[in-house]
Amino acid sequence: MSGEHKSLGHIRLTSHSGGVDAPPIHWGAPTAAERGPVIGTTGVRAHRNVIGTHSGSYSVYRALAVAAGALARDHRADLTNTSPTDHIGPYPQWGDPKAIVSLDPWGATVAESFPDKIAAGYDIRPTIAVTKAHVILPEIAEAIEKGRLVPDGKLLLPSGAALVTKAAVEPVWHLPGVAERFGCSEAELRRVLFEETGGMYPELVTRSDLEVFLPPIGGQTVYVFGDARDLADPTVELTARVHDECNGSDVFGSDICTCRPYLTHAIEECIRGTQRGGVGLVAYSRKEGRALGEVTKFLVYNARKRQEGGDTADQYFARTECVAGVQDMRFQELMPDVLHWFGITKIHRLVSMSNMKYDAITGSGIEVGERVNIPDELVPADARVEIDAKMAAGYFTPGPVPDAEALRKVKGRGLE
Ligand SMILES: [Zn+2]
Repeated sequence: MSGEHKSLGHIRLTSHSGGVDAPPIHWGAPTAAERGPVIGTTGVRAHRNVIGTHSGSYSVYRALAVAAGALARDHRADLTNTSPTDHIGPYPQWGDPKAIVSLDPWGATVAESFPDKIAAGYDIRPTIAVTKAHVILPEIAEAIEKGRLVPDGKLLLPSGAALVTKAAVEPVWHLPGVAERFGCSEAELRRVLFEETGGMYPELVTRSDLEVFLPPIGGQTVYVFGDARDLADPTVELTARVHDECNGSDVFGSDICTCRPYLTHAIEECIRGTQRGGVGLVAYSRKEGRALGEVTKFLVYNARKRQEGGDTADQYFARTECVAGVQDMRFQELMPDVLHWFGITKIHRLVSMSNMKYDAITGSGIEVGERVNIPDELVPADARVEIDAKMAAGYFTPGPVPDAEALRKVKGRGLE
């Protein structure tokens, strides 16, 4: 984020503390001690310095567990041996209040960042966890079988397992920064969040001194191939994909879109890039069905398949807009934050055709080299409608952009 460090002046040092004993949060301060801990516990209300509670959408399940008598309200997590497996940061972006507005950069290291406060009885919880995994995908096994990938015994085992570091990230929103990203006032953002959640968090409108909100939404998971520290080194080739959740394709193999084949292609590219001496990253955001949700998505599928003339690429966006009111609610404005958390300044190979993702990433100050499209042979027949409509709407393609006449001819399967 070269040139943006001047924005440190944005910190509101006059913030009041939340409860009587709540430490203040100075968002974007350069050290954890100056920034202060994020405290979303419901155990000691006077310690709270945020709106909302931990665990994103799972906060509701926590409430159910308390209601059912299965969970003690005052349960405190025993965090023995839970610290990150990899050392990440701090990076200069962590001290830039505009570079990161939707996650807590110190969220993985609360134990080492705030030992005195924890010893004094504050319930400070991690909002980021970092661990190791072996990932085994049939597409990667097939790539080995066909000779596109060669196991090296370190990153890729002969069994087909790829060794990764992965991080789970919960949303932590600095409301002034989020409002700025979306081009609205903080007051307006607070009022609309309050109203459109049915009045779920009154503090949004009654406590303007609390600037941090833990929203009840899904977070992100990041898979890193190679050494996570290399992500911050612009001289190390970085292959990256930012992927939005699509349960139907990602998990169940539904063939109406390109989500899983593009995801597994990205993983293959990440492994190959890392074997060349680079590093790879896949960031997976819980934004099902363009953040419209799966019910809306399935309604759109039916509307597409049943419309007069059948499912054609020229009506692809129109059908979504008829049902949802918008074409897309993923709004990539907050997505680059996780890249800045890893200290990324350059992506050499971006495995995405989305112009919205590209614009958000480059607009946030990260340089992007090559853009890698999904190979044609990986596009399922019924997904041609989607990918052609997207290319016509501005998605990156190295080939010809389909015109209106071509879009009318691209047709998907019927419902029966
Ligand atoms: Zn999909």
